[in-house]
Amino acid sequence: MKKNNKNNEDTNDKKFENNSVRKNFYEDEMGNFSIMIASLILIGFLLLSIILLNTAISHEKENEEIISSDNYQYILDDYIRNIPLIEDETLEELSEEVIKNKRPCLDSKSDLKEIIDEKLMVKNQEYYDNYNIQINSSLISIENTSNPFSYKFKTYVYSVKGDYSFERIISSDVDCINLKDPVPLLYLKSYSSLSYNDSSYNYGTSLSEFLRDNGVENYSFYTNANSPLVIRKCPYDPYKHHGDDNGKIMKNCRDNGYYHESRDGACYLCRLEGKSGCEHYGFETFINPQKTNETGRVSACGSDHVIFSDDIYPGVEVIYNSENGLNEILYLDPHGHKVKYGMSDY
Ligand SMILES: [Zn+2]
Ligand SMILES: [Zn+2]
Repeated sequence: MKKNNKNNEDTNDKKFENNSVRKNFYEDEMGNFSIMIASLILIGFLLLSIILLNTAISHEKENEEIISSDNYQYILDDYIRNIPLIEDETLEELSEEVIKNKRPCLDSKSDLKEIIDEKLMVKNQEYYDNYNIQINSSLISIENTSNPFSYKFKTYVYSVKGDYSFERIISSDVDCINLKDPVPLLYLKSYSSLSYNDSSYNYGTSLSEFLRDNGVENYSFYTNANSPLVIRKCPYDPYKHHGDDNGKIMKNCRDNGYYHESRDGACYLCRLEGKSGCEHYGFETFINPQKTNETGRVSACGSDHVIFSDDIYPGVEVIYNSENGLNEILYLDPHGHKVKYGMSDY
């Protein structure tokens, strides 16, 4: 009996154990389920947060990109505005250097390229330091144009910043108006009495000695002659009007020291190389002899590309103004320059 009882007790215990195991199992299952739900909610929440955050970030980035794209273009536009200024400035500096040293350029275009590329490098570094924008640029060509007073400078510009890039060839018109003409100085540097002021060359005896050395007979007619120093374009175009108004137009032209387009005269960059004539479409001016009371004389034709050349040909006296018994004259070849400037009747 006891044994049975005990057995019963055992059985009861087991039943009880079974119940408690089931209960634990049930509780565990419920717990796991809750954790799973909670985790899912948490993951969902995290995913949602990530999506929201990403949207916000990309939205902000878009705004940022619009701003920096505008800025980028603005900064590059500003950079490009500097290029013609640098090129103008460089041509002037080179011409001043030729005048100062009385030494011609060996190759004015390559000298200009060297100086301009150096200045662009400095400018590029400045833009990198100030705006963190990398710019590469260099002068790729200098072209003569149909206007002999103006050149076309072409500059290659390349830049990249992040997603943005810029590549273009910038064309600038660079002219030589108001720059100094080095030709008389380069031809006469070994003659002592050449001088110049702000606007003109005064030859003293330098030009007559030079003409004597080049076999010109009436070389002394160019003693104390003068000619312009600074390049200014003659407004009396067509040029045959120089003979209008009893020579007053020609007088005004010579008083102002104007230059004229000419196939035979050198362009400005060739003048910097010490040439008075070149293969490009160029320009010419006149050497004004000293006023005289004599008439009917003949000397070297006074166009600068004739005077400063290996082939000096003669010109006849052309009186365009007379005051107090003194004539203002030019020596011009009868069939060339006299005709071109409308002075055939003088
Ligand atoms: Zn003129
Ligand atoms: Zn030339």
